[in-house]
Amino acid sequence: MKKVLIANRGEIALRIMRCCRDMGIGTVAVYSTADRELKHVRLADEAVCIGPPPSTDSYLNIPALISAAEITDADGIHPGYGFLSENADFAERVESSGFTFIGPSPDVIRLMGDKVSAIKEMRAAGVPCVPGSDGPLGDDEATNLKIANEIGYPIIIKAAGGGGGRGMRVVRGDDELIESIKLTQAEAGAAFNNDVVYMEKFLEKPRHVEFQVLSDTHGNAIHLGERDCSMQRRHQKVVEEAPAPGITPEQRAAMGEKCVKACKRLGYRGAGTFEFLYENGEFYFIEMNTRVQVEHPVTEMITGVDIVKEQLKIAMGDELTYTQDMIKISGHAFECRINAEDPETFMPSPGLIEQFHSPGGLGVRVDTHIYNGYRVPPNYDSMIGKLIAHGNLRESAAARMRGALSEVFIGGINTNIPLLASIMDDENFAKGGTDIHYLEKKLGIS
Ligand code: ADP
Repeated sequence: MKKVLIANRGEIALRIMRCCRDMGIGTVAVYSTADRELKHVRLADEAVCIGPPPSTDSYLNIPALISAAEITDADGIHPGYGFLSENADFAERVESSGFTFIGPSPDVIRLMGDKVSAIKEMRAAGVPCVPGSDGPLGDDEATNLKIANEIGYPIIIKAAGGGGGRGMRVVRGDDELIESIKLTQAEAGAAFNNDVVYMEKFLEKPRHVEFQVLSDTHGNAIHLGERDCSMQRRHQKVVEEAPAPGITPEQRAAMGEKCVKACKRLGYRGAGTFEFLYENGEFYFIEMNTRVQVEHPVTEMITGVDIVKEQLKIAMGDELTYTQDMIKISGHAFECRINAEDPETFMPSPGLIEQFHSPGGLGVRVDTHIYNGYRVPPNYDSMIGKLIAHGNLRESAAARMRGALSEVFIGGINTNIPLLASIMDDENFAKGGTDIHYLEKKLGIS
């Protein structure tokens, strides 16, 4: 691969561009008319405008992306996260147009992108899953009531095609069940163009623990340990860390090995994440992400592995740079997601960044596309950057993160930095191991 088109925007586009630059690979940025001022658009070797601000007309516009790759003579396409990154039809179009898709094969994306088929596949691979309906719910009300009672309330109804924390509903008794199934089906149909829903036991106090994997086209697969992403609001991650507090090396090796086996069984290609809920010492698979994740840097900080570089190498047909025994976990890392939003109401806060002072120092990493004078457009996700801090111990990494949060200054718009600081100051979080409901309880939402 000599030239890669980056089919994304914001910090991840910049992250991918930097990696290509390190590897001597040319870069093509694509942008909507709202994104002319993006940092990577200025830095990439070439840049192509692919449409007006709405994502459906630009970053989700498959013909526009393929044309941009054709006119610039790119040979690979990196989808980043979000947008088309887990869209099997896009991967298929990329490949049938003669480009390399930097990610798994369309078939694997399709299989793992549907949560119902993913769970079935994982059960067959011997990966533990949440007790549930083990398949889509039908229309028969009596059957659905029976399934719910067999699982035992509370249960959660989830959309097979869901993502981004949407398409989920908790049900606590028979009286709400039928109505909730209908509502979730209707929402899922509208949001994901797929009204298939299934049922799972709703775990009351789990943590979200996920395993990072890399798998090449030569039959090699490794895991890079786990991350804890339990600090969530509305099923969306806010702060992540690696390794997950309290997970023993034996647990890591055992679950990591299960994920590696599943990759080999799938013929998986690229970077991926197996997401689990973790409760009372047990892991329960919930879904797989077949792409690079927002929180990948915490794993990079503790393993020294450049995950995006491995994605590119795998796509070029190279063997993995590492074998499992070369992966050593060193220290601890946190990531804070900085959003342009009101820290109390969570309303988006786009607009002009009048001043930006970046933190720095040993062990501090800033992945962001913002700069003085950058205007955050109102059209996209509100995440404007990530602060990552590494230390030899969890406590020293946390101290560095607190320092970085006190240093960073973003003027002109509102951000969630005060919320991030209050999480890093929280005494229960400091102990490690708070569950997925902790933040909402702290905020008084649930
Ligand atoms: P998405 O694809 O939208 O991210 P996931 O299946 O990964 O959906 O779930 C997102 C989050 O929703 C989890 O991290 C967890 O907080 C919550 N969740 C999902 N399934 C369950 C469950 N069975 N019990 C409790 N919480 C759940």
